[in-house]
Amino acid sequence: MAYKKPLPRINGDNREFWEGCRNHELKFQKCASCGHVRFPPSLVCPRCLCRDVEWIASAGAGKVYTYAVYHAVYHEGFREDAPYVVAVVELQEGPRLLTNIVGCSPDEVSCEMPVSVVWEDVTPDISLPLFRPSV
Ligand SMILES: [Zn+2]
Repeated sequence: MAYKKPLPRINGDNREFWEGCRNHELKFQKCASCGHVRFPPSLVCPRCLCRDVEWIASAGAGKVYTYAVYHAVYHEGFREDAPYVVAVVELQEGPRLLTNIVGCSPDEVSCEMPVSVVWEDVTPDISLPLFRPSV
């Protein structure tokens, strides 16, 4: 069955991130000058404006920074998921990702809860990083 939810638009800036996801690896840009690890990918470091960058692999672990439980269906593709959790997860390396918390009931989610990445392979080219409670 075709995937019904919105898919990311891949461009020159984010291609490395999404290719990493396809290989089930969370990759972030790290500034070669000040060491700031950033997301989303960008041409220059938001802290020091340096253009030199290296890509690092994240351990895929972090914590819930904030979240909301969606009961309303804002897109037909999510109808069967409601209620579901939309969260900002802060990775150990620093970046924050907008994502979903899966693998538990929405009322089990709390801020600061430790989470780990899990992968949802939604198309042959796209794998989405979702998070579940760490065990
Ligand atoms: Zn920098």
